[in-house]
Amino acid sequence: MVRRAGSRDNDADVIVVGAGPAGSTAAAYLARAGLDVLLLEKSAFPRDKVCGDGLTPRGVKQLIDLGIDTSTEAGWLHNQGLRVVGGGVTIELPWPDLTSFPPYGAVRQRRDFDEILARHAERAGARLHELSMVTEAITDERTGRVVGVRGRQGPDKQPMAYRAPLTLACDGVSARLALSLGIDKREDRPMGVGVRRYYTSPRTNDDFLESHVEIWDHTTPQQPKLLPGYGWIFGMGDGTSNVGLGILSTSSAYGKTDYRALLRSWLDGTPQEWGFRERNATGKIAGAALPMSFNRTPHYEGGLLLVGDAGGMVNPFNGEGIAYAMQSARFAAECTVQALAQPEGLARERALRRYPTALREELGGYFRLGNVFSRLIGHPAVMRAGIRHALPRQTLMRFMLKLLANLYDSREGDAMDRVITAMTRLTPSV
Ligand SMILES: Cc1cc2nc3c(=O)[nH]c(=O)nc-3n(C[C@H](O)[C@H](O)[C@H](O)COP(=O)(O)OP(=O)(O)OC[C@H]3O[C@@H](n4cnc5c(N)ncnc54)[C@H](O)[C@@H]3O)c2cc1C
Repeated sequence: MVRRAGSRDNDADVIVVGAGPAGSTAAAYLARAGLDVLLLEKSAFPRDKVCGDGLTPRGVKQLIDLGIDTSTEAGWLHNQGLRVVGGGVTIELPWPDLTSFPPYGAVRQRRDFDEILARHAERAGARLHELSMVTEAITDERTGRVVGVRGRQGPDKQPMAYRAPLTLACDGVSARLALSLGIDKREDRPMGVGVRRYYTSPRTNDDFLESHVEIWDHTTPQQPKLLPGYGWIFGMGDGTSNVGLGILSTSSAYGKTDYRALLRSWLDGTPQEWGFRERNATGKIAGAALPMSFNRTPHYEGGLLLVGDAGGMVNPFNGEGIAYAMQSARFAAECTVQALAQPEGLARERALRRYPTALREELGGYFRLGNVFSRLIGHPAVMRAGIRHALPRQTLMRFMLKLLANLYDSREGDAMDRVITAMTRLTPSV
């Protein structure tokens, strides 16, 4: 282990808070570069995380980059595209054929997925401390800079404090570390809310991810509302399906809807033989928020980098967050490694400022476009028109899949890819 920047007062070169996809990915890249990495996780593996468990080729690409075996032999259920259901139409869209992404997506329960990544980080050399809950940042009294973290550790919750020149906040949507420094979420960005449940189902071996785009809120029966969002049915290949729905904050129904009741009422309307009934449920309905479009900034400030959900990196078009958590983790690790090779002071700060810039360059224009999209579909009439006019049109839907899943080649792509590249470049970055 090379101790590059650590002084005797430091416990590590870098502290990473949270061992979800963002934290474990960052820790693996950092450790591989020879840094001494402390990865602090509040729970103990294996542990669950509320999620749809679905990966598009964008998510699989991140796993491949990291060196994870994504073969079916290693337990991944592959999928070959997205099936969209709505307006009386069902359309199957294979994943686009691209040079930058693999031709398949995958599913894996987060209980498994997150532990695979955390152990991978450990094998790369990161020191994983489970049952280590961070409660706040330690700041330098003179400069206000983050110099470590404090919290509680172990089954008996003993106080803990660790110091390092840099800290990565990968603590998910709760963003406790950022909040301890007063970095609040931005109200000008969309949020999503999602609920999901597992059911024993004959649909478990589906090799398409399925998305139902007509979700009706019947809270006021005389005036049902079409909600901006979708329901998903992802076969898990283990006898169960992960079924859930995600709704955007841009509708007037946001915050006033009982999402668990909404899930039940949607599933009661699905065919009996699919099995999505109470007696086949294997657990409770669980829900969580989806922070989108960089809804917490700045992504770098005074020794602290916000990564993944902590920095609001869920795609506002489709609610996908794992790929972006892992991609931002990779950027954060690269900038951190370069920064720690610089002398403390201005040169190091300059290297760290590359992180928010890289995020903006790579995702800013696309997320901005997503904000416009999410506001538009917040109007039921727009959502209705989209379902009626877009869904029956194969070519338009192939374009929509590329746009919504952010799956296109920005350099040597086809005409659709060139249109999307132009759209994201023309839209000012967020
Ligand atoms: C209902 C729902 C469905 C979704 N479906 C999908 C999907 O199908 N595909 C997809 O790509 N994305 C999906 N997402 C989004 C995805 O779950 C997140 O974007 C992704 O998990 C973000 O990864 P992360 O590492 O940033 O955060 P997290 O996965 O939340 O990981 C954060 C980690 O930090 C730990 N932690 C938190 N606080 C502390 C603390 N104070 N101290 C120490 N450790 C801490 C947590 O225990 C956790 O291990 C869904 C989200 C929801 C809510």
